[in-house]
Amino acid sequence: MAVSRPPLTAAANVEHSYVESIDPVTGEAFARFEVAQPAAICAMMARARAVQPDWARLPMIERCRAVRRLRDALFHSREEIIGVITRETGKPRVEAIFAEIVLALDTADYFIRHAQRWLRRQRVPHRNITLKAKAGWIEYEPVGVVAILSPWNYPLAIPMAELIPALLAGNSVVLKPSELTPWIGSMIGELCIRAGLPEGLVQIVQGDATAGAALVEAGPDKVFFTGSVETGRKIAAACAGRIIPSVLELGGKDPMLVFADADLEVASSAAVWGSFMNCGQACLSVERVYVEQSIAARFTELCVAKAKKLRVGPPSDLESDIGPLIRPRQLERVERQLRDAVERGAKILVGGGRRPELGPTFLDPAVVTDVDESMDLMREETFGPVLAIRAVASADEAVKFANESPFALSASIWTRDIVRAREVASQLRAGAVMINDVASYYGIVEAPHGGRGASGWGRTHSRFGFMEMVHAKYVDVDRLTGRFNAWWFGYTAGLATAADRLTQLLFAPGWKQRGTALKDIRAWRALLSRRNRI
Ligand code: NAD
Repeated sequence: MAVSRPPLTAAANVEHSYVESIDPVTGEAFARFEVAQPAAICAMMARARAVQPDWARLPMIERCRAVRRLRDALFHSREEIIGVITRETGKPRVEAIFAEIVLALDTADYFIRHAQRWLRRQRVPHRNITLKAKAGWIEYEPVGVVAILSPWNYPLAIPMAELIPALLAGNSVVLKPSELTPWIGSMIGELCIRAGLPEGLVQIVQGDATAGAALVEAGPDKVFFTGSVETGRKIAAACAGRIIPSVLELGGKDPMLVFADADLEVASSAAVWGSFMNCGQACLSVERVYVEQSIAARFTELCVAKAKKLRVGPPSDLESDIGPLIRPRQLERVERQLRDAVERGAKILVGGGRRPELGPTFLDPAVVTDVDESMDLMREETFGPVLAIRAVASADEAVKFANESPFALSASIWTRDIVRAREVASQLRAGAVMINDVASYYGIVEAPHGGRGASGWGRTHSRFGFMEMVHAKYVDVDRLTGRFNAWWFGYTAGLATAADRLTQLLFAPGWKQRGTALKDIRAWRALLSRRNRI
Protein backbone atom coordinates (compact mmCIF):
# COMPACT_ATOMS: atom_id res chain seq x y z
CA MET A 1 0.00 0.00 0.00
CA ALA A 2 1.38 3.39 -0.95
CA VAL A 3 1.36 5.77 1.96
CA SER A 4 1.81 9.41 1.11
CA ARG A 5 4.30 10.76 3.56
CA PRO A 6 6.69 13.63 3.08
CA PRO A 7 10.39 12.83 3.48
CA LEU A 8 12.08 14.00 6.63
CA THR A 9 14.12 16.58 4.79
CA ALA A 10 11.13 18.42 3.30
CA ALA A 11 10.15 21.90 4.39
CA ALA A 12 12.62 22.07 7.25
CA ASN A 13 12.01 25.81 7.55
CA VAL A 14 8.40 25.30 8.75
CA GLU A 15 9.32 23.05 11.65
CA HIS A 16 6.18 23.70 13.69
CA SER A 17 3.83 22.58 10.94
CA TYR A 18 4.82 18.95 11.18
CA VAL A 19 4.46 16.09 13.61
CA GLU A 20 7.18 13.51 13.53
CA SER A 21 6.95 9.80 13.57
CA ILE A 22 9.62 8.66 16.03
CA ASP A 23 10.86 5.10 16.47
CA PRO A 24 10.90 4.59 20.27
CA VAL A 25 13.54 1.89 19.90
CA THR A 26 16.12 4.42 18.68
CA GLY A 27 14.48 7.73 19.54
CA GLU A 28 14.96 8.81 15.93
CA ALA A 29 12.40 10.41 13.65
CA PHE A 30 11.70 8.55 10.42
CA ALA A 31 8.75 10.41 8.88
CA ARG A 32 6.86 13.64 9.32
CA PHE A 33 3.28 14.65 8.60
CA GLU A 34 1.83 18.06 8.03
CA VAL A 35 -0.18 19.46 10.91
CA ALA A 36 -3.70 20.64 10.08
CA GLN A 37 -4.20 24.31 10.94
CA PRO A 38 -7.47 25.49 12.57
CA ALA A 39 -8.78 26.99 9.29
CA ALA A 40 -8.14 23.72 7.49
CA ILE A 41 -9.88 21.81 10.29
CA CYS A 42 -12.97 24.02 9.91
CA ALA A 43 -12.92 23.34 6.17
CA MET A 44 -12.69 19.60 6.87
CA MET A 45 -15.66 19.87 9.21
CA ALA A 46 -17.67 21.61 6.50
CA ARG A 47 -16.72 18.90 4.01
CA ALA A 48 -17.66 16.16 6.47
CA ARG A 49 -21.00 17.86 7.02
CA ALA A 50 -21.61 18.16 3.28
CA VAL A 51 -20.98 14.50 2.42
CA GLN A 52 -22.75 12.96 5.42
CA PRO A 53 -26.40 13.23 4.29
CA ASP A 54 -25.76 11.35 1.02
CA TRP A 55 -23.90 8.65 2.90
CA ALA A 56 -26.72 8.34 5.45
CA ARG A 57 -29.28 8.05 2.63
CA LEU A 58 -27.54 5.02 1.14
CA PRO A 59 -29.34 1.77 1.94
CA MET A 60 -27.72 0.02 4.87
CA ILE A 61 -26.62 -2.83 2.64
CA GLU A 62 -24.53 -0.37 0.59
CA ARG A 63 -22.89 1.05 3.70
CA CYS A 64 -22.15 -2.49 4.87
CA ARG A 65 -20.55 -3.28 1.49
CA ALA A 66 -18.33 -0.21 1.71
CA VAL A 67 -17.24 -1.02 5.27
CA ARG A 68 -16.55 -4.59 4.17
CA ARG A 69 -14.22 -3.19 1.50
CA LEU A 70 -12.46 -1.22 4.23
CA ARG A 71 -12.14 -4.38 6.30
CA ASP A 72 -10.72 -6.26 3.29
CA ALA A 73 -8.25 -3.45 2.55
CA LEU A 74 -7.10 -3.71 6.15
CA PHE A 75 -6.74 -7.47 5.89
CA HIS A 76 -4.72 -7.32 2.66
CA SER A 77 -2.48 -4.52 3.97
CA ARG A 78 -1.95 -6.07 7.37
CA GLU A 79 1.72 -6.83 6.87
CA GLU A 80 2.55 -3.22 6.14
CA ILE A 81 0.30 -1.96 8.93
CA ILE A 82 1.92 -4.29 11.45
CA GLY A 83 5.29 -2.95 10.31
CA VAL A 84 4.23 0.63 10.98
CA ILE A 85 2.55 -0.17 14.32
CA THR A 86 5.64 -1.93 15.64
CA ARG A 87 7.88 0.84 14.32
CA GLU A 88 5.83 3.71 15.78
CA THR A 89 4.94 2.12 19.13
CA GLY A 90 7.75 -0.41 19.67
CA LYS A 91 5.24 -3.10 20.66
CA PRO A 92 5.96 -6.78 19.86
CA ARG A 93 4.63 -8.12 16.57
CA VAL A 94 2.39 -10.69 18.35
CA GLU A 95 0.66 -7.87 20.24
CA ALA A 96 0.29 -5.80 17.06
CA ILE A 97 -1.52 -8.75 15.47
CA PHE A 98 -3.74 -9.84 18.38
CA ALA A 99 -4.60 -6.51 19.93
CA GLU A 100 -4.73 -4.33 16.82
CA ILE A 101 -5.30 -6.19 13.53
CA VAL A 102 -7.51 -9.00 14.86
CA LEU A 103 -9.55 -6.60 16.95
CA ALA A 104 -10.12 -4.17 14.06
CA LEU A 105 -11.16 -6.99 11.69
CA ASP A 106 -13.42 -8.59 14.27
CA THR A 107 -15.03 -5.21 15.01
CA ALA A 108 -15.88 -4.83 11.33
CA ASP A 109 -17.35 -8.34 11.03
CA TYR A 110 -19.41 -7.95 14.19
CA PHE A 111 -20.92 -4.56 13.38
CA ILE A 112 -21.53 -5.40 9.70
CA ARG A 113 -23.50 -8.44 10.85
CA HIS A 114 -25.70 -6.59 13.35
CA ALA A 115 -26.02 -2.99 12.15
CA GLN A 116 -29.06 -3.51 9.97
CA ARG A 117 -31.07 -5.25 12.70
CA TRP A 118 -30.10 -2.77 15.40
CA LEU A 119 -31.10 0.22 13.30
CA ARG A 120 -34.42 -1.20 12.22
CA ARG A 121 -37.47 0.91 13.07
CA GLN A 122 -38.85 -0.24 16.42
CA ARG A 123 -42.52 -0.16 17.40
CA VAL A 124 -43.39 1.35 20.78
CA PRO A 125 -46.58 -0.22 22.15
CA HIS A 126 -48.63 2.03 24.46
CA ARG A 127 -49.95 0.67 27.72
CA ASN A 128 -52.10 3.59 28.85
CA ILE A 129 -55.68 3.17 27.57
CA THR A 130 -56.10 6.91 27.05
CA LEU A 131 -53.27 6.82 24.51
CA LYS A 132 -54.24 3.64 22.72
CA ALA A 133 -55.42 5.52 19.63
CA LYS A 134 -51.86 6.52 18.88
CA ALA A 135 -49.14 4.38 17.36
CA GLY A 136 -45.47 5.13 17.81
CA TRP A 137 -42.08 3.91 16.73
CA ILE A 138 -38.39 4.74 17.14
CA GLU A 139 -36.22 5.65 14.19
CA TYR A 140 -32.46 5.70 14.57
CA GLU A 141 -30.69 8.60 12.91
CA PRO A 142 -26.96 9.14 12.60
CA VAL A 143 -25.61 11.84 14.89
CA GLY A 144 -23.93 13.56 11.89
CA VAL A 145 -20.22 14.33 12.03
CA VAL A 146 -18.32 12.23 14.56
CA ALA A 147 -14.94 13.47 15.81
CA ILE A 148 -12.59 10.75 17.03
CA LEU A 149 -9.58 11.80 19.12
CA SER A 150 -7.38 8.82 19.80
CA PRO A 151 -4.26 7.88 21.79
CA TRP A 152 -1.01 6.26 20.70
CA ASN A 153 -1.04 3.04 22.70
CA TYR A 154 -3.45 1.15 20.40
CA PRO A 155 -3.28 3.44 17.38
CA LEU A 156 -5.23 1.18 15.04
CA ALA A 157 -7.67 -0.82 17.19
CA ILE A 158 -9.05 2.11 19.20
CA PRO A 159 -9.94 4.47 16.33
CA MET A 160 -11.20 1.59 14.15
CA ALA A 161 -13.53 0.42 16.95
CA GLU A 162 -15.22 3.84 16.71
CA LEU A 163 -14.83 4.63 13.03
CA ILE A 164 -16.48 1.39 11.82
CA PRO A 165 -19.74 1.71 13.79
CA ALA A 166 -19.81 5.47 13.08
CA LEU A 167 -19.78 4.80 9.32
CA LEU A 168 -22.28 1.95 9.46
CA ALA A 169 -24.67 4.16 11.40
CA GLY A 170 -24.48 6.79 8.63
CA ASN A 171 -22.05 9.32 10.08
CA SER A 172 -19.02 10.99 8.56
CA VAL A 173 -15.81 10.97 10.57
CA VAL A 174 -12.98 13.35 11.30
CA LEU A 175 -10.22 11.44 13.06
CA LYS A 176 -7.30 12.95 14.92
CA PRO A 177 -4.70 10.30 15.66
CA SER A 178 -2.16 10.86 18.40
CA GLU A 179 0.77 13.06 17.43
CA LEU A 180 2.96 10.14 18.56
CA THR A 181 1.49 7.77 15.95
CA PRO A 182 0.70 9.96 12.93
CA TRP A 183 1.74 7.35 10.40
CA ILE A 184 -0.89 4.84 11.52
CA GLY A 185 -3.43 7.65 11.41
CA SER A 186 -2.42 8.44 7.87
CA MET A 187 -2.69 4.75 6.94
CA ILE A 188 -6.28 4.64 8.22
CA GLY A 189 -7.08 7.50 5.84
CA GLU A 190 -5.30 5.68 3.04
CA LEU A 191 -7.27 2.48 3.70
CA CYS A 192 -10.52 4.44 3.42
CA ILE A 193 -9.42 5.76 0.03
CA ARG A 194 -8.45 2.29 -1.12
CA ALA A 195 -11.82 0.97 0.00
CA GLY A 196 -13.46 3.53 -2.29
CA LEU A 197 -15.28 5.38 0.49
CA PRO A 198 -16.72 8.69 -0.72
CA GLU A 199 -14.21 11.53 -0.62
CA GLY A 200 -14.46 13.49 2.59
CA LEU A 201 -16.35 10.77 4.47
CA VAL A 202 -13.31 9.97 6.62
CA GLN A 203 -10.73 12.72 7.05
CA ILE A 204 -7.55 12.67 9.09
CA VAL A 205 -6.43 15.67 11.14
CA GLN A 206 -2.75 15.44 12.02
CA GLY A 207 -1.41 17.38 14.97
CA ASP A 208 -1.14 17.62 18.72
CA ALA A 209 -3.31 19.13 21.47
CA THR A 210 -3.80 22.34 19.48
CA ALA A 211 -5.23 20.47 16.50
CA GLY A 212 -7.36 18.32 18.85
CA ALA A 213 -8.78 21.38 20.57
CA ALA A 214 -9.46 23.02 17.17
CA LEU A 215 -11.32 19.91 16.06
CA VAL A 216 -13.66 20.10 19.07
CA GLU A 217 -14.05 23.86 18.51
CA ALA A 218 -15.02 23.21 14.89
CA GLY A 219 -18.28 21.81 16.26
CA PRO A 220 -18.68 18.11 15.46
CA ASP A 221 -21.99 16.50 16.46
CA LYS A 222 -20.34 14.07 18.87
CA VAL A 223 -16.84 13.58 20.26
CA PHE A 224 -15.28 10.20 20.98
CA PHE A 225 -12.19 10.80 23.03
CA THR A 226 -9.75 8.18 24.31
CA GLY A 227 -6.82 9.41 26.35
CA SER A 228 -5.69 10.72 29.70
CA VAL A 229 -7.92 12.06 32.47
CA GLU A 230 -6.20 15.43 32.22
CA THR A 231 -7.07 15.86 28.54
CA GLY A 232 -10.49 14.28 29.08
CA ARG A 233 -11.31 17.03 31.55
CA LYS A 234 -10.42 19.72 28.99
CA ILE A 235 -12.44 18.02 26.28
CA ALA A 236 -15.45 17.60 28.58
CA ALA A 237 -15.29 21.34 29.35
CA ALA A 238 -14.96 22.29 25.67
CA CYS A 239 -17.88 20.01 24.75
CA ALA A 240 -19.98 21.40 27.60
CA GLY A 241 -19.44 24.92 26.28
CA ARG A 242 -20.92 23.92 22.93
CA ILE A 243 -23.35 21.28 24.25
CA ILE A 244 -21.66 18.55 22.24
CA PRO A 245 -22.24 15.03 23.60
CA SER A 246 -19.16 12.93 24.22
CA VAL A 247 -17.86 9.50 25.03
CA LEU A 248 -14.76 9.66 27.22
CA GLU A 249 -12.55 6.59 27.51
CA LEU A 250 -9.95 7.68 30.06
CA GLY A 251 -7.26 6.17 32.24
CA GLY A 252 -7.39 3.19 34.58
CA LYS A 253 -5.78 1.81 37.72
CA ASP A 254 -7.13 -1.68 37.40
CA PRO A 255 -7.03 -3.92 40.47
CA MET A 256 -6.46 -7.68 40.44
CA LEU A 257 -7.86 -9.51 43.47
CA VAL A 258 -6.18 -12.84 44.21
CA PHE A 259 -7.95 -15.01 46.77
CA ALA A 260 -6.37 -17.80 48.80
CA ASP A 261 -7.94 -20.59 46.72
CA ALA A 262 -6.75 -19.22 43.33
CA ASP A 263 -4.65 -21.27 40.94
CA LEU A 264 -1.41 -19.41 41.66
CA GLU A 265 0.48 -20.68 38.62
CA VAL A 266 -2.15 -19.27 36.27
CA ALA A 267 -2.82 -16.13 38.33
CA SER A 268 0.86 -15.20 38.46
CA SER A 269 1.22 -15.60 34.66
CA ALA A 270 -1.86 -13.43 34.23
CA ALA A 271 -0.47 -10.79 36.61
CA VAL A 272 2.82 -10.68 34.72
CA TRP A 273 1.10 -10.46 31.32
CA GLY A 274 -1.55 -8.04 32.55
CA SER A 275 1.05 -5.66 34.00
CA PHE A 276 3.69 -5.86 31.29
CA MET A 277 1.89 -6.32 27.94
CA ASN A 278 2.38 -3.33 25.68
CA CYS A 279 5.13 -2.43 28.18
CA GLY A 280 2.40 -1.69 30.73
CA GLN A 281 1.03 1.06 28.51
CA ALA A 282 -2.58 -0.10 28.39
CA CYS A 283 -5.62 1.46 30.01
CA LEU A 284 -6.58 -2.06 31.20
CA SER A 285 -3.14 -2.90 32.62
CA VAL A 286 -3.10 -4.62 35.98
CA GLU A 287 -1.79 -1.73 38.07
CA ARG A 288 -2.62 -2.95 41.60
CA VAL A 289 -2.61 -6.53 42.89
CA TYR A 290 -4.34 -7.31 46.20
CA VAL A 291 -3.47 -10.82 47.29
CA GLU A 292 -4.63 -12.63 50.42
CA GLN A 293 -1.90 -12.81 53.06
CA SER A 294 -1.73 -16.62 53.27
CA ILE A 295 -0.63 -16.97 49.63
CA ALA A 296 1.09 -13.62 49.11
CA ALA A 297 4.66 -14.94 49.49
CA ARG A 298 4.17 -17.83 47.05
CA PHE A 299 2.30 -15.66 44.53
CA THR A 300 5.02 -12.98 44.65
CA GLU A 301 7.77 -15.56 44.28
CA LEU A 302 6.09 -16.90 41.13
CA CYS A 303 5.65 -13.40 39.68
CA VAL A 304 9.33 -12.59 40.28
CA ALA A 305 10.47 -15.83 38.68
CA LYS A 306 8.27 -15.20 35.63
CA ALA A 307 9.30 -11.55 35.31
CA LYS A 308 12.94 -12.65 35.22
CA LYS A 309 12.22 -14.87 32.23
CA LEU A 310 10.79 -12.06 30.09
CA ARG A 311 12.81 -10.82 27.16
CA VAL A 312 13.10 -7.09 26.81
CA GLY A 313 13.97 -5.97 23.31
CA PRO A 314 12.92 -4.33 20.06
CA PRO A 315 10.01 -5.65 18.00
CA SER A 316 12.46 -6.64 15.25
CA ASP A 317 13.41 -9.52 17.57
CA LEU A 318 10.31 -11.70 17.28
CA GLU A 319 10.98 -13.25 20.68
CA SER A 320 10.91 -9.95 22.56
CA ASP A 321 8.12 -9.92 25.13
CA ILE A 322 8.50 -6.29 26.14
CA GLY A 323 9.41 -3.32 23.97
CA PRO A 324 10.40 0.22 24.91
CA LEU A 325 8.26 2.86 26.58
CA ILE A 326 6.89 5.31 24.05
CA ARG A 327 8.94 8.38 25.06
CA PRO A 328 11.56 9.38 27.67
CA ARG A 329 8.96 11.40 29.62
CA GLN A 330 6.93 8.19 30.11
CA LEU A 331 10.03 6.37 31.35
CA GLU A 332 10.76 9.22 33.76
CA ARG A 333 7.21 9.13 35.09
CA VAL A 334 7.52 5.40 35.88
CA GLU A 335 10.89 5.94 37.54
CA ARG A 336 9.47 8.81 39.59
CA GLN A 337 6.68 6.59 40.90
CA LEU A 338 9.15 3.81 41.72
CA ARG A 339 11.42 6.24 43.60
CA ASP A 340 8.50 7.64 45.59
CA ALA A 341 7.33 4.11 46.46
CA VAL A 342 10.80 3.03 47.64
CA GLU A 343 11.15 6.18 49.76
CA ARG A 344 7.89 5.22 51.45
CA GLY A 345 9.00 1.66 52.19
CA ALA A 346 8.29 -0.36 49.04
CA LYS A 347 10.71 -3.08 47.88
CA ILE A 348 11.61 -3.63 44.23
CA LEU A 349 12.22 -7.37 44.02
CA VAL A 350 13.26 -7.41 40.39
CA GLY A 351 13.62 -4.96 37.47
CA GLY A 352 13.07 -1.23 37.45
CA GLY A 353 16.43 -0.44 35.86
CA ARG A 354 17.03 1.14 32.45
CA ARG A 355 18.49 -0.84 29.54
CA PRO A 356 20.46 1.82 27.66
CA GLU A 357 22.23 -0.78 25.53
CA LEU A 358 18.83 -1.54 23.93
CA GLY A 359 17.66 2.05 23.43
CA PRO A 360 16.75 5.23 25.31
CA THR A 361 13.43 4.08 26.81
CA PHE A 362 13.84 0.40 27.62
CA LEU A 363 13.14 -0.56 31.24
CA ASP A 364 13.33 -3.95 32.91
CA PRO A 365 9.85 -4.93 34.14
CA ALA A 366 9.58 -4.44 37.89
CA VAL A 367 7.84 -6.45 40.60
CA VAL A 368 7.27 -4.34 43.71
CA THR A 369 5.96 -5.33 47.15
CA ASP A 370 5.31 -3.66 50.50
CA VAL A 371 3.26 -1.04 48.71
CA ASP A 372 0.35 0.91 50.15
CA GLU A 373 -2.17 3.53 49.13
CA SER A 374 0.02 6.43 50.35
CA MET A 375 2.23 5.88 47.29
CA ASP A 376 1.67 7.47 43.86
CA LEU A 377 2.34 4.00 42.46
CA MET A 378 -0.94 2.78 43.97
CA ARG A 379 -3.00 5.89 43.29
CA GLU A 380 -1.98 7.40 39.96
CA GLU A 381 -1.94 5.69 36.60
CA THR A 382 1.58 4.27 36.08
CA PHE A 383 1.34 3.27 32.40
CA GLY A 384 4.59 1.33 32.54
CA PRO A 385 5.95 -2.16 33.27
CA VAL A 386 5.41 -2.29 37.03
CA LEU A 387 3.62 -5.06 38.93
CA ALA A 388 2.74 -3.73 42.40
CA ILE A 389 1.60 -6.34 44.92
CA ARG A 390 -0.09 -5.61 48.24
CA ALA A 391 -0.90 -8.38 50.74
CA VAL A 392 -4.34 -8.02 52.34
CA ALA A 393 -5.98 -9.63 55.36
CA SER A 394 -9.12 -10.76 53.58
CA ALA A 395 -11.17 -10.67 50.40
CA ASP A 396 -13.27 -7.89 51.93
CA GLU A 397 -10.18 -5.78 52.43
CA ALA A 398 -9.18 -6.40 48.80
CA VAL A 399 -12.60 -5.18 47.64
CA LYS A 400 -12.33 -2.12 49.90
CA PHE A 401 -8.93 -1.10 48.47
CA ALA A 402 -10.02 -1.87 44.91
CA ASN A 403 -13.04 0.41 45.23
CA GLU A 404 -11.18 3.29 46.86
CA SER A 405 -9.57 4.49 43.61
CA PRO A 406 -11.21 7.32 41.68
CA PHE A 407 -10.58 5.23 38.54
CA ALA A 408 -13.07 2.51 37.67
CA LEU A 409 -12.27 0.90 34.33
CA SER A 410 -11.91 -2.84 34.85
CA ALA A 411 -10.95 -5.31 37.57
CA SER A 412 -10.23 -9.01 37.90
CA ILE A 413 -10.94 -11.66 40.53
CA TRP A 414 -8.94 -14.85 40.93
CA THR A 415 -10.51 -17.80 42.75
CA ARG A 416 -11.72 -21.33 42.11
CA ASP A 417 -15.04 -20.48 43.77
CA ILE A 418 -17.05 -19.01 40.92
CA VAL A 419 -20.16 -18.43 43.04
CA ARG A 420 -18.16 -16.28 45.41
CA ALA A 421 -16.39 -14.55 42.52
CA ARG A 422 -19.74 -13.55 41.05
CA GLU A 423 -20.79 -12.02 44.37
CA VAL A 424 -17.53 -10.09 44.60
CA ALA A 425 -17.86 -8.95 40.98
CA SER A 426 -21.16 -7.30 41.89
CA GLN A 427 -19.43 -5.40 44.70
CA LEU A 428 -16.65 -3.97 42.54
CA ARG A 429 -16.89 -0.46 41.17
CA ALA A 430 -15.74 -1.00 37.58
CA GLY A 431 -16.91 -0.88 33.98
CA ALA A 432 -16.02 -4.55 33.56
CA VAL A 433 -14.90 -7.39 35.81
CA MET A 434 -13.09 -10.50 34.62
CA ILE A 435 -13.12 -13.68 36.69
CA ASN A 436 -9.91 -15.70 36.25
CA ASP A 437 -8.60 -13.57 33.40
CA VAL A 438 -7.31 -10.03 32.94
CA ALA A 439 -7.89 -7.31 30.34
CA SER A 440 -8.72 -9.64 27.44
CA TYR A 441 -12.43 -8.80 27.52
CA TYR A 442 -11.34 -5.83 25.40
CA GLY A 443 -10.92 -8.31 22.56
CA ILE A 444 -14.54 -9.45 22.91
CA VAL A 445 -16.27 -6.98 20.61
CA GLU A 446 -19.67 -8.03 21.96
CA ALA A 447 -18.64 -6.81 25.45
CA PRO A 448 -19.21 -3.14 26.31
CA HIS A 449 -16.06 -1.23 27.18
CA GLY A 450 -15.89 1.93 29.26
CA GLY A 451 -15.50 3.22 32.76
CA ARG A 452 -17.00 5.41 35.40
CA GLY A 453 -15.59 8.00 37.78
CA ALA A 454 -12.22 9.25 36.58
CA SER A 455 -12.19 6.54 33.88
CA GLY A 456 -14.82 8.41 31.90
CA TRP A 457 -18.31 7.84 30.57
CA GLY A 458 -20.11 6.26 27.65
CA ARG A 459 -19.29 2.98 25.98
CA THR A 460 -17.46 1.65 22.95
CA HIS A 461 -17.64 -1.87 21.48
CA SER A 462 -20.86 -3.93 21.72
CA ARG A 463 -24.39 -2.82 20.95
CA PHE A 464 -23.99 -0.08 23.58
CA GLY A 465 -21.05 1.37 21.67
CA PHE A 466 -22.96 1.18 18.40
CA MET A 467 -25.96 3.01 19.82
CA GLU A 468 -23.65 5.88 20.86
CA MET A 469 -23.48 6.63 17.11
CA VAL A 470 -27.19 7.38 16.66
CA HIS A 471 -30.06 9.50 17.93
CA ALA A 472 -33.22 7.65 18.86
CA LYS A 473 -36.07 9.65 17.33
CA TYR A 474 -39.63 8.91 18.39
CA VAL A 475 -42.38 9.28 15.78
CA ASP A 476 -46.07 9.03 16.65
CA VAL A 477 -49.26 8.96 14.57
CA ASP A 478 -52.81 9.46 15.81
CA ARG A 479 -54.88 6.72 14.21
CA LEU A 480 -58.22 8.48 14.84
CA THR A 481 -57.82 11.49 12.64
CA GLY A 482 -60.29 14.39 13.06
CA ARG A 483 -60.57 13.81 16.80
CA PHE A 484 -59.94 16.30 19.62
CA ASN A 485 -57.95 15.10 22.61
CA ALA A 486 -59.85 15.25 25.89
CA TRP A 487 -57.02 17.09 27.63
CA TRP A 488 -56.92 20.04 25.23
CA PHE A 489 -58.15 23.57 26.19
CA GLY A 490 -61.67 24.38 27.22
CA TYR A 491 -61.20 23.26 30.82
CA THR A 492 -64.29 22.92 33.07
CA ALA A 493 -65.17 21.67 36.55
CA GLY A 494 -66.70 18.59 34.91
CA LEU A 495 -63.46 17.84 33.08
CA ALA A 496 -61.50 18.20 36.35
CA THR A 497 -63.82 15.62 38.02
CA ALA A 498 -63.52 13.30 35.04
CA ALA A 499 -59.72 13.62 35.13
CA ASP A 500 -59.75 12.59 38.78
CA ARG A 501 -62.06 9.59 38.09
CA LEU A 502 -59.73 8.53 35.32
CA THR A 503 -56.76 8.75 37.70
CA GLN A 504 -58.68 6.56 40.19
CA LEU A 505 -59.64 4.08 37.51
CA LEU A 506 -56.06 3.69 36.29
CA PHE A 507 -54.05 3.93 39.47
CA ALA A 508 -56.10 3.28 42.64
CA PRO A 509 -54.36 0.54 44.61
CA GLY A 510 -57.61 -1.41 45.23
CA TRP A 511 -60.10 -2.75 42.70
CA LYS A 512 -63.02 -1.46 44.83
CA GLN A 513 -61.95 2.15 44.42
CA ARG A 514 -61.42 1.61 40.71
CA GLY A 515 -64.94 0.17 40.47
CA THR A 516 -66.37 3.21 42.29
CA ALA A 517 -64.67 5.51 39.79
CA LEU A 518 -66.14 3.52 36.94
CA LYS A 519 -69.65 3.96 38.32
CA ASP A 520 -69.49 7.78 38.12
CA ILE A 521 -71.43 7.86 34.85
CA ARG A 522 -71.82 11.65 34.97
CA ALA A 523 -68.13 12.21 34.96
CA TRP A 524 -67.55 9.88 32.01
CA ARG A 525 -70.38 11.47 30.10
CA ALA A 526 -68.85 14.91 30.73
CA LEU A 527 -65.58 13.61 29.40
CA LEU A 528 -67.00 12.07 26.25
CA SER A 529 -69.41 14.88 25.38
CA ARG A 530 -67.18 17.90 25.89
CA ARG A 531 -68.59 20.87 24.02
CA ASN A 532 -66.60 23.96 24.90
CA ARG A 533 -63.48 22.84 22.99
CA ILE A 534 -60.97 25.45 21.85
P1 NAD B 1 -3.57 12.17 25.74
O1 NAD B 1 -4.69 12.60 26.59
O2 NAD B 1 -2.27 12.84 25.91
O3 NAD B 1 -3.94 12.33 24.18
C1 NAD B 1 -5.02 11.66 23.58
C2 NAD B 1 -5.42 12.42 22.32
O4 NAD B 1 -5.96 13.69 22.67
C3 NAD B 1 -4.25 12.70 21.39
O5 NAD B 1 -4.70 12.56 20.06
C4 NAD B 1 -3.90 14.14 21.71
O6 NAD B 1 -3.25 14.83 20.66
C5 NAD B 1 -5.27 14.72 21.97
N1 NAD B 1 -5.28 15.92 22.81
C6 NAD B 1 -4.40 16.29 23.76
N2 NAD B 1 -4.79 17.45 24.34
C7 NAD B 1 -5.94 17.82 23.74
C8 NAD B 1 -6.83 18.91 23.91
N3 NAD B 1 -6.63 19.86 24.82
N4 NAD B 1 -7.94 18.97 23.14
C9 NAD B 1 -8.18 18.01 22.23
N5 NAD B 1 -7.37 16.94 22.02
C10 NAD B 1 -6.25 16.84 22.77
O7 NAD B 1 -3.44 10.59 25.96
P2 NAD B 1 -2.33 9.61 25.40
O8 NAD B 1 -1.05 9.85 26.13
O9 NAD B 1 -2.30 9.65 23.93
O10 NAD B 1 -2.92 8.19 25.82
C11 NAD B 1 -2.66 7.59 27.07
C12 NAD B 1 -3.87 7.69 27.96
O11 NAD B 1 -5.02 7.16 27.30
C13 NAD B 1 -3.75 6.89 29.24
O12 NAD B 1 -4.23 7.63 30.31
C14 NAD B 1 -4.62 5.68 28.98
O13 NAD B 1 -5.13 5.05 30.14
C15 NAD B 1 -5.71 6.27 28.16
N6 NAD B 1 -6.39 5.24 27.37
C16 NAD B 1 -7.67 4.91 27.71
C17 NAD B 1 -8.33 3.89 27.02
C18 NAD B 1 -9.73 3.49 27.37
O14 NAD B 1 -10.35 2.80 26.57
N7 NAD B 1 -10.27 3.89 28.50
C19 NAD B 1 -7.67 3.24 25.97
C20 NAD B 1 -6.37 3.63 25.65
C21 NAD B 1 -5.73 4.63 26.35
